[in-house]
Amino acid sequence: MNQLDTITHFINGAKQDTASGRYADVFNPALGEPVARVALASGEEVDAAVRAAEAAFPSWSATPPLTRARVLFKYLQLCQQHVDDFAAVVTLEHGKTFADAQGEVARGIEMVEFAVGIPQMLKGEFTEQISRGIDAWSVRQPLGVVAGITPFNFPVMVPMWMFPLAIACGNTFILKPSERDPSASLLHAKLLKEAGLPDGVFNVVQGDKLAVDALLDHPSIQALSFVGSTPIAEYIYARGCAAGKRVQALGGAKNHMVVMPDADMDMTVDALMGAAFGSAGERCMAISVVVAVGDAGDKIIDALAQRTAALKVRDGMAHDAEMGPVVSSAAKQRIEKLIGEGVEQGAKLVVDGRNHVVPERENGFFIGGTLFDHVTPDMSIYKEEIFGPVLCIVRLPDVGSAVELINRNEYGNGVAIYTRDGGTAREFVRQIQVGMVGVNVPLPVPMAFNSFGGWKRSLFGDHHAYGPEGVRFYTRHKAVMERWPNTSTAGAEFAFPQMK
Ligand code: NAD
Repeated sequence: MNQLDTITHFINGAKQDTASGRYADVFNPALGEPVARVALASGEEVDAAVRAAEAAFPSWSATPPLTRARVLFKYLQLCQQHVDDFAAVVTLEHGKTFADAQGEVARGIEMVEFAVGIPQMLKGEFTEQISRGIDAWSVRQPLGVVAGITPFNFPVMVPMWMFPLAIACGNTFILKPSERDPSASLLHAKLLKEAGLPDGVFNVVQGDKLAVDALLDHPSIQALSFVGSTPIAEYIYARGCAAGKRVQALGGAKNHMVVMPDADMDMTVDALMGAAFGSAGERCMAISVVVAVGDAGDKIIDALAQRTAALKVRDGMAHDAEMGPVVSSAAKQRIEKLIGEGVEQGAKLVVDGRNHVVPERENGFFIGGTLFDHVTPDMSIYKEEIFGPVLCIVRLPDVGSAVELINRNEYGNGVAIYTRDGGTAREFVRQIQVGMVGVNVPLPVPMAFNSFGGWKRSLFGDHHAYGPEGVRFYTRHKAVMERWPNTSTAGAEFAFPQMK
């Protein structure tokens, strides 16, 4: 290809190329080649998107919630018709397998299924006669212009954690997707427009740090949702809050699975294969550490080693692919460097995925499944979020030390325990300092009607994402006390009001 297609912004209902002259290459990670270039917004372009969203807000927020829901209903139907189109761009630009990408789209669509129930969720409370002749009621009202900044690893689903609910609540929205896999954002924009969403309600600015900083500092943006790595999440939270915005910033993770000696070992190994190596480990809920209690490590190591070595690593479009490439050449180098550090620091490398070559895809960013045993908490492969297909086994004598280890970890996104003992599981759930817990469930990702979020340095802010917490995040509460003048009044009162 001589001239790469340009992935543009989408502002006020129309695609718009950048005037900044800045672009970044978008790669197909399976080929290791650029397939498109993405526009990188200037501050002026971010401002144009904010102004479009601001202009659309009065009319959209005054639109009855049921009418807003009907637009989203149409969008939901269009998404259902375009699942494979979404999945194809995800596999092309991200690299995950097509089946995995279809799963991501399905979980995103569930967010719209939840958002169409918005008339029910915006209902307020009413208390009659809080004092003689006075009633009290409350409503939740939209905030105004809100923005979402999203990571590369779920280019369809994570934006859908944000904008369907935000616009259902009556806000107008600006999405800044990851510059690594930006195409899905334009497909959302196209389908929303086709569904009848008024221009300016949903806008996309493509870009990098410059666009993010412009969003963080823009005085007309009321709230920001961020999902990405912990250092950036912390930065977004601090700078966004300093600019007076409401911010929820979801960060990185190091998710453990505790395997008790009484666990069903076949079930455990099956669960670990998917949870550690699905999407090449590039999931914020991926299990990257097994905490094997007692002799559990001896019971699973052979099966894990054999199945890790036999993983089908392919171009994500291959029908039998179990794992695709990682997202970029830089990610591949970083992960392979960490594997090297694991060896140097004394962990036992059971399966080495470095230098993995896929025939006819020799330049792709592939890493084979990698398994370490006898990992200790001081090693960098334990401390860092690897975000690749690397599974580490830490061996500990009892469940108490497993809980202690996990509670000491700076992250607290997801965790799982595999056991047949209800008492052990119950106590584990009660004591563990992690936001999402699975009992014999490896990836406890809450459904759309619950909310998603980690603890500790996996989330900065007070609200979890989507579900009921999402409705609260994208609205503010107003309390009204109301009296009408047909009741008797006793003249001016200067003491603090009390119930009479
Ligand atoms: P990232 O933090 O590099 O990028 C996320 C977003 O921030 C992108 O839109 C990017 O353009 C922007 N960004 C990057 N550097 C920036 C900077 N210096 N200043 C301002 N903006 C910047 O994350 P990623 O590599 O795209 O995604 C992987 C990370 O996301 C992992 O750490 C993963 O655990 C995390 N993640 C967390 C969740 C969750 O729910 N907690 C979900 C998905 C991914």
